[in-house]
Amino acid sequence: MKILVLNCGSSSLKYQIIDMSTKDVMCKGLCERIGIEGSKLTHKVPGKDDYVVEESMPDHTKAVRMVMDALTDAEHGVLKSVDEIDAIGHRVLHGGMKFNKSIVVTEEVKETIREYFDLGPLHNPANLMGIEAAEAAMPGKPNVAVFDTSFGMGMEPKAYTYAIPIEYLEKYSLRRYGFHGTSHDYVSHRAIEFAGLDPKTAKVIVCHLGNGASISASIGGVCVDTSMGLTPLEGLIMGTRSGDVDPAVVQYICTHEGKDVNEVLNMLNKKSGILGMSGGISSDFRDVEAAANEGNEKAEVALEAFRYRVAKYIGAYTAAMNGVDCICFTAGVGENDKHARKLICDEYLGYLGVKIDDARNDVRGQEAVISADDSKVKVLLLPTNEELKIAMDTQALVTK
Ligand code: ADP
Repeated sequence: MKILVLNCGSSSLKYQIIDMSTKDVMCKGLCERIGIEGSKLTHKVPGKDDYVVEESMPDHTKAVRMVMDALTDAEHGVLKSVDEIDAIGHRVLHGGMKFNKSIVVTEEVKETIREYFDLGPLHNPANLMGIEAAEAAMPGKPNVAVFDTSFGMGMEPKAYTYAIPIEYLEKYSLRRYGFHGTSHDYVSHRAIEFAGLDPKTAKVIVCHLGNGASISASIGGVCVDTSMGLTPLEGLIMGTRSGDVDPAVVQYICTHEGKDVNEVLNMLNKKSGILGMSGGISSDFRDVEAAANEGNEKAEVALEAFRYRVAKYIGAYTAAMNGVDCICFTAGVGENDKHARKLICDEYLGYLGVKIDDARNDVRGQEAVISADDSKVKVLLLPTNEELKIAMDTQALVTK
């Protein structure tokens, strides 16, 4: 079975074709600047040069049609005909309180994605455009929506309810949802398989540490808690997002700088995190690490604070689950930065009996146990694969 995975942003579209018999990525690509002058498609086939098409893409429908052309191109394509695609899996940001798992797209599902435009104003409209473009380009093929919020729907009310007047939950569904759900779901289940844990009772913490960063706790693959909230702003310190702050900070800055709430939220989302803490060096962890190594104190504090926050959440989530069997690191920093992994574990998690094996930890981007044999908690590096998880859910739903 061949699945097309689509991840649409407001002006971009990422795609992959995954052959589910081998789980191999046959090709992947990106359409940029949709609806803006200078659009282009970059198509990558393993072992071949990139194929770039610069052509106007006024909307996602045109972008999907160009993807179809690239997929079936005589020289650069990987399919003889679009008919070889069995189904399309779409990443959808927000499923609100209605969707706790992936679902085959129907008119009703599209209507609900539309209802949640307010909760995911940047992503849900683009995700819906991607679905409608795929329906137009490949009529009759099944489309599956895979929500970034589904995993967080496993949380109980005590974990997802904000301690504000209950009418806001009742009226507007204002609650903690959590994001990166596809990644947390994939990695927590993979951890159970990889470490040979009991699939019903395993207590797993997943640290998804990338430019966007979040952490989750799950028992038997069901989410107990996750650090992002109503939006991806809550929780860990990220590349450009502040994570947890006292909301009074917003009011203080509004008053003293003559800004409105939207401007301050924009600052918390785009100019904060390690970028803001380091005094504007970069949102890229490698740049901030390089500055810290050269003695830049703000950069050093930013990285220390990042690790400290991750460790605090690990402690909190261990309490939330009354124990932890396995801690996993994933995403850009989690998969590549052995120093961050080592420092988080060595500086803060000794009381849990966590012991990192330095030789095992000297690894990047591949599945590995990085804890010592006598560590009380298994620590793993597990590369995330959100596209594969979307394809797996799509396959499972269309072969039912
Ligand atoms: P996102 O998908 O949220 O954009 P990624 O998961 O791709 O983010 O992670 C990107 C981050 O990973 C960047 O900030 C980058 O600096 C960091 N990263 C990648 N390799 C390394 C490394 N070797 N050491 C430290 N950080 C790294």
